[in-house]
Amino acid sequence: MSTRKVHVKRDDTVVILTGKDRGKTGRVLSVYPDTNRVLVERVNLLKHHSRHRDPSQQGIVEREAPVHASNVMLVCPRCNRQSRTYRKKLETGFRVRVCRKCQEVVDG
Ligand SMILES: [Zn+2]
Repeated sequence: MSTRKVHVKRDDTVVILTGKDRGKTGRVLSVYPDTNRVLVERVNLLKHHSRHRDPSQQGIVEREAPVHASNVMLVCPRCNRQSRTYRKKLETGFRVRVCRKCQEVVDG
């Protein structure tokens, strides 16, 4: 098992800690464990010039670019605060993430 597991998951809500989007919150669209990066909705947008053959498809389009996982922090869905999590093993063997602030299990 990888020890470099990304601390957030798809569909988590995270807050951005650094860069031009600092303070923004967004939903995690994808996680890239190999590079420890995450793609967050409407965060770290890069403008691309689309040169599509269809004129209606041309122009500037904005795309998210991945940000490093260390630059985001989970917003706890239970207490709505930005929080670190720790992993807890349940009696059933499942590993869940627990919010350090409210001690609630973050994973459903
Ligand atoms: Zn919490």
